[in-house]
Amino acid sequence: MSEYLDIPAIYGSYIFGDREMRERLPKAIYRSLRKSMATGEELDPVVADATACAMKEWAISKGATHFTHWFQPLTGTTAEKHDSFINPQGDGTVIMELRGKELIRGEPDASSFPSGGIRQTFEARGYTVWDITSPAFIYDSGETKTLCIPTAFCSYTGEALDKKTPLLRSMEAISRQAVRICRLFGDTQTQKVIASVGAEQEYFIVDRATYNKRKDLIFTGRTLLGAMPPKGQEMEDHYFGAIKERVSNYMRDLDVELWKLGIPAKTEHNEAAPAQHELAPIYNTTNLATDENMLVMNVMKKVALRHGLVCLLHEKPFAGVNGSGKHNNWSLCTDGGKNLLDPGKEPQHNRLFLLMLAAVMKAVDERAGLLRMSASNPGNDHRLGGHEAPPAIISMFLGDQLTAVVEHIIAGNDERVPSVSIMKVGVSTLPFIRRDATDRNRTSPFAFTGNKFEFRMVPSSGCIADANIVLNTITADALCAFADELEQAEDFDGALTALIRREMTAHQRIIFNGNGYTDEWRAEANRRGLPEIRSMVDAIPELTRSDSVAMFERHGVYTAKELQARADVAYELYAKTINIEALTMIDMVGKDILPAVVRYTKQLADTVASVEAVGADASVQRDLLARVSVMLRQAYAALTDLREKQERAAALCGEAQARAYYKDVTTAMQLLRAPVDHLETIVDGALWPIPTYGELLFNV
Ligand code: ADP
Ligand code: MG
Repeated sequence: MSEYLDIPAIYGSYIFGDREMRERLPKAIYRSLRKSMATGEELDPVVADATACAMKEWAISKGATHFTHWFQPLTGTTAEKHDSFINPQGDGTVIMELRGKELIRGEPDASSFPSGGIRQTFEARGYTVWDITSPAFIYDSGETKTLCIPTAFCSYTGEALDKKTPLLRSMEAISRQAVRICRLFGDTQTQKVIASVGAEQEYFIVDRATYNKRKDLIFTGRTLLGAMPPKGQEMEDHYFGAIKERVSNYMRDLDVELWKLGIPAKTEHNEAAPAQHELAPIYNTTNLATDENMLVMNVMKKVALRHGLVCLLHEKPFAGVNGSGKHNNWSLCTDGGKNLLDPGKEPQHNRLFLLMLAAVMKAVDERAGLLRMSASNPGNDHRLGGHEAPPAIISMFLGDQLTAVVEHIIAGNDERVPSVSIMKVGVSTLPFIRRDATDRNRTSPFAFTGNKFEFRMVPSSGCIADANIVLNTITADALCAFADELEQAEDFDGALTALIRREMTAHQRIIFNGNGYTDEWRAEANRRGLPEIRSMVDAIPELTRSDSVAMFERHGVYTAKELQARADVAYELYAKTINIEALTMIDMVGKDILPAVVRYTKQLADTVASVEAVGADASVQRDLLARVSVMLRQAYAALTDLREKQERAAALCGEAQARAYYKDVTTAMQLLRAPVDHLETIVDGALWPIPTYGELLFNV
């Protein structure tokens, strides 16, 4: 693994990006394609054919034999349907072909993807449409290479059946409204404002052979059982610690695969928990960052297998050990390169920035429930509010300096605002660093970090489209209200000052710079009227609240029907996930754990009998037997109870079903887990049928 790598040469070699297009397309075709990319205009059929042909030639030169439309259905994963390039000629020969039509539109048999009732199975037609703003790429699965064409997925009647379509709509919405604001400030140049995103991805790495002995990891992605090992993360020696060789080989291989795909993976370090790591790419436009993150997750899993490892993306693979999330760094930038969320040297005098800040405060405060929903999945229920991840209450961290600015504005006096301070590092060879406008506060769900906001609730295994659709739309909505008002104002400066002050005052309650893990904060948030939504099931109704529907419709991001469909899919997804977990637990406990414990009781009973037969003291063995038997009885009763609850929930449907899984089944699972984990600590280790936490977390 140490030979020289020509990184600039391999970087982007698996994407059909601008470089390839320019080289392989006739000038006129290239220009026309670029124009469609910039304006969203429909592709001319001649351009489509020429592009398809060049793309195919390129893909074949890379070893591809198939192509697929790659899309993001509502399951939160990616889907593809492979076709070969072969076109039989009727004389026993074939040619390799990709026609323009096949490039720009596909018709996968869509009935097997969830649509929340939008598309009945008898009208299974769904279309995939090429997203020309996202480059086609080669996916290398070892055996075969496939040309993947990023597409949006919608129904015959035009409803979105995926996450990309509303994401693209939300990007247009935020751009439209932010451009209006730019105009108010005398900017006549900006045509587009781009929401950019950098998604930091956390993950766990475990040994594949060990993983293969755990049905729960295989079927559910997390451990459903397992006592804490003698050593957890308390030594804090893993965070930024030296990376073990096996893992660093994996990371290097992963980087190379991502670089080939033009994904600028940059930093990799160990995270707080043992076996946990993080990867951060350099940010990109929301749409590309989302596609890239889907690919990152995919490639992470694929490359791990090559190294005899398994990559776990679940939010909470191990109870009692920090789980994984994604930090969704988000900001707004004009097409001229100006970051609208950059406070500059003197935020107190940067009125465009202050207006943007007021808009984000308003958006996050008024739509906290939607944001919470956008970060919900079944796995994240184990993490949010668990003193390791942000609490289930949305608040906003601004840091001391900006908070002081906001307080001064609210108080109505612009003077005496603290100026930027220089941080003294105390080492003369290090240059002075301008202190970040913000400090680090890891407990905040939504933190201002210099020139961007970092939404830290996002689930590690989820698609970041959800969070960004909401972020873009709620900010667009706030900016729209501001623009409506300011465009009518006779005295712009006066109106602007009044508006910023009014909005910051109205939404000041969303700002919280303290420790979000404490009970005091929960009480305080309660007093402030900030909602605490504890579970995914409780968050789903936020999607279909009448004010949410009106807002999404106002900006053309979702229709009421699409929102209802998404809520339905979310309930179903939740129920299915918990159902699989419950069945897996029932299987493991019923077929593996309890039989092992029964064997142990027999071993103990035999020992008691033989020890006492020779007249020796068997009181310890007797005591152990009694304790194991008590736990065994408890586990057995809890298993029976879980079976009942699971069967009852399985018979329901829709929201009621999801609620039954949440309330009854997850509770029954916890009640079963407790005695089983206790048994693990007293049963003969040689008899325990599955690898322990210690073996999973510390043997890579
Ligand atoms: P942290 O200290 O939170 O771990 P990192 O430096 O690891 O932060 O990651 C920050 C992420 O934010 C990176 O993915 C980076 O590309 C991204 N980022 C930086 N600037 C912007 C921006 N203007 N818009 C969106 N994302 C950005
Ligand atoms: Mg971060």
